[in-house]
Amino acid sequence: MANMQMQKTPMPEQAPEVRNKNFQEVALGYTLEMAQNEAKRCLNCKVKPCVSGCPVGIPIPEFVGKVAEGDLAAAYKLLSDANALPAISGRVCPQETQCEGKCVRGKKGEPVSIGRIERFVADWAAENGISNVETAPKNGHKAAVIGSGPAGLTCAGELARMGYDVTVFEAFHTPGGVLSYGIPEFRLPKAIVKREVANLEKMGVNVELDMVIGKVLTIPEIFEMGYEAVFIGSGAGLPMFMKIPGESLVGVYSANEYLTRINLMKAYKEGAATPILHNKKVAVVGGGNVAMDAARCAKRLGADVHIVYRRSEAELPARAEEVHHAKEEGIVFDLLTNPVSIEGDEHNNVQSITCIRMELGEPDASGRRRPVPIQGSEFKMDVDAVIMALGTSPNPMSYGGTPGLEKTRKGCVAADEHGCTSCPNIFAGGDAATGAATVILAMGAGKAAAKSMDEYIRSKA
Ligand code: FAD
Ligand code: SF4
Repeated sequence: MANMQMQKTPMPEQAPEVRNKNFQEVALGYTLEMAQNEAKRCLNCKVKPCVSGCPVGIPIPEFVGKVAEGDLAAAYKLLSDANALPAISGRVCPQETQCEGKCVRGKKGEPVSIGRIERFVADWAAENGISNVETAPKNGHKAAVIGSGPAGLTCAGELARMGYDVTVFEAFHTPGGVLSYGIPEFRLPKAIVKREVANLEKMGVNVELDMVIGKVLTIPEIFEMGYEAVFIGSGAGLPMFMKIPGESLVGVYSANEYLTRINLMKAYKEGAATPILHNKKVAVVGGGNVAMDAARCAKRLGADVHIVYRRSEAELPARAEEVHHAKEEGIVFDLLTNPVSIEGDEHNNVQSITCIRMELGEPDASGRRRPVPIQGSEFKMDVDAVIMALGTSPNPMSYGGTPGLEKTRKGCVAADEHGCTSCPNIFAGGDAATGAATVILAMGAGKAAAKSMDEYIRSKA
């Protein structure tokens, strides 16, 4: 008999006034009892709508059913056969628009909390020293992956499972992509990213760090080294700015730089080699997950933080949970507000930001109502830092000069849903092909591309 409780089983978390001063994980995870209570809410539906919402095809009712029965080893096997990074996706995947968005329990109450159960199972396996690192015998073929974000890691894991000799080339000194440099420790502890990468290494994946493809090696040179297919998963790390006066002042950051200093280079820790300004009042421009992460980091570093967003609350692109957490932590939302200039002091340090009030007009190409400035409504806010979280685009360094490789108008690699590009031996996916998406979509793309790479290499053998 299913548990017909209408709401999700709550997950304990650090209190807002405590967590907004530390970088430890906010959400504390389910106990076995909580996980089983939640798992018993699943109706084991015949048509499995939740599975159709999962880009990596996790057999959701089956693994959730094993949790309800208390067979966690079987749950982990089902989960990790389909998903190379379950502890990560259980934490940061936007389940509300994926599997949980399709769950039938969501029609009359809250959906089954598939993400929290996934996280519980992955953490249980790690705590008990269990990993799913079995691979097919080596097949004698070599494949290369550029970038170690969720797309590249998933692609590499899938290929290793099939018996390929796989090398991941990563530009940074640490693998993980956005998981390591972008998403803060308090949402995704870096020890978990390390653990998932270590599992891939146990499967035989070779991770080469400090390898900026396009500079150290080119894609044609990778082929000369005997690799038969290459996956481009180099992400979308090129930040955008507003092109308003004052953006070159000291104290104006792109969110990417700000978060990289804090997350990858640990600038929040005392004695870290990489510096970060500990500001008094910070304006974060933008309304997505990246803006929320930057704002919540600045808050933890002691600042009074304002999110400046040009549309209304309904249009905020960030996950509802992130907005909720940010508000609880004391971040102020200046909505329908847009910056027009940033002013500095005599030493070129940021001193203030001038904004204009906006109202919503007719829908634009995105279907959302266009923000229109209200003339004469400009006002000045004293701030000592401005963080621009306006979106990113792919950096074409790794693939820019590759002969025959087509790009989209926005500079992404042109690739279909199977990861195939205009070059038969080059595959691409994740943010490098889409511009900017989500962790689980990047993982789905990496998985699809691995299948295409296998088909291509076998067709040539
Ligand atoms: P990335 O994660 O960007 O990884 C690309 C990797 O390629 C990087 O390690 C990079 O160093 C490397 N690389 C780049 N150029 C080269 C080169 N020339 N040679 C070698 N290596 C190279 N999504 C969610 O689902 N949930 C969230 O909560 C969420 N929060 C986010 C928070 C932030 C701050 C950001 C920036 C993004 C967030 N996203 C979130 C989006 C998500 O993280 C991305 O969609 C996802 O990481 C894309 O994966 P990827 O593997 O394509 O690229
Ligand atoms: Fe269970 Fe919801 Fe999936 Fe139905 S849709 S099988 S209730 S998780």
